[in-house]
Amino acid sequence: MLSVTPIPALSDNYIWLLRQDTSPEACVVDPGEAAPVIHVLEREGLTLGSVLITHHHPDHVGGLAELIQRYSPKVIGPHNPQIDGIDERVGDGDTCRVMGRRFDVLEVPGHTLDHIAFFTPGIPPLLFCGDTLFSGGCGRLFEGTPEQMYHSLRELAALPDDTLVFAAHEYTLANLTFAQAADPNNPDVTAALDETRRARDLDRPTLPSNLGREKNINPFLRCAVPDVRATAAQHGSTDSDQATFATLRAWKDSF
Ligand SMILES: [Zn+2]
Repeated sequence: MLSVTPIPALSDNYIWLLRQDTSPEACVVDPGEAAPVIHVLEREGLTLGSVLITHHHPDHVGGLAELIQRYSPKVIGPHNPQIDGIDERVGDGDTCRVMGRRFDVLEVPGHTLDHIAFFTPGIPPLLFCGDTLFSGGCGRLFEGTPEQMYHSLRELAALPDDTLVFAAHEYTLANLTFAQAADPNNPDVTAALDETRRARDLDRPTLPSNLGREKNINPFLRCAVPDVRATAAQHGSTDSDQATFATLRAWKDSF
């Protein structure tokens, strides 16, 4: 059985650790630093068989060189020559096998242009989406356009509702504070915010979320909802769902 646990890293990153109870070979997603990964692998008697990379930002690849030197894992990541150490470069529609499971690759540009996500079907399905979709929010647009990010999020939202969402940052509290401003009459946002405050007071991760929940609380997946559009209209264009998305994203940048 595959289990997934967070390794907290840097200020608010999660490096997701995948392991099977039948094998000592683990996998990590987006190792922004090596030390906390090595610490957990040694403590648990594991070795590193594979690494998944979603995009080139240093807080996602910073630990890669040291982990390669120590464990020689198979590294799977995007078609971006800026990232050293990738053995298998993958893009839209590709599949790869990790931990005995099939992972489908989706290209999700917006936060960066090289951003990919990994989806593995199962009960439940799992999604590793880096800095594209967060609980209650989405990544900033450092390289891509609002149009690209809107389509990337639509693609992720089309996956099954029970898909667990393993995002790379603990941003939920700040995201839901914005969600409450953008979607003020949504009781699911209020409930999620209360739950998130309680979890964070106890220093517990708020992830993974799941897609069904995100469709109810994440304003960036709710651009077609009249209440969200009405609030966004006070901050910019809402001529289309995509325009509403762009307005929400720009508003959140200065929120
Ligand atoms: Zn990033």
